[in-house]
Amino acid sequence: MGRKKKVVAAPQLDDSMEVYRPPENHMVDCKICHIESEWVSADVGAIICDTCVSMLVGPPEIAEPPKPATGYPRGWHLRTLFISDEGNYFSKGVELSNKEGKALENATPKPKLAKGKKSKSSRSKDK
Ligand SMILES: [Zn+2]
Repeated sequence: MGRKKKVVAAPQLDDSMEVYRPPENHMVDCKICHIESEWVSADVGAIICDTCVSMLVGPPEIAEPPKPATGYPRGWHLRTLFISDEGNYFSKGVELSNKEGKALENATPKPKLAKGKKSKSSRSKDK
């Protein structure tokens, strides 16, 4: 045996449930478009609606202009040592002098070439 659900009627809106507004508030139309209106306190004489403000102000300026492209490969400024095609040395995006760059080039070990997975044919040749 299941329990019976209690049915409750949804509350009906009536005039007594309106949003309370203090008597000193009054409604003012937007002084530019005269379409939008807003409840304001007694000391406010005129308003400008959000649509008119956005038309007056205009779009926001872009904070930072895009950096010009260097033509170097992606992530070059993150490398400890990067040598450009012109032979300039860079470390973490900062240009080094020729002497500093060559010293850093000798100090850093050369990256090992990745060994690829042997194919079936090359494995059979080794045997
Ligand atoms: Zn307006």
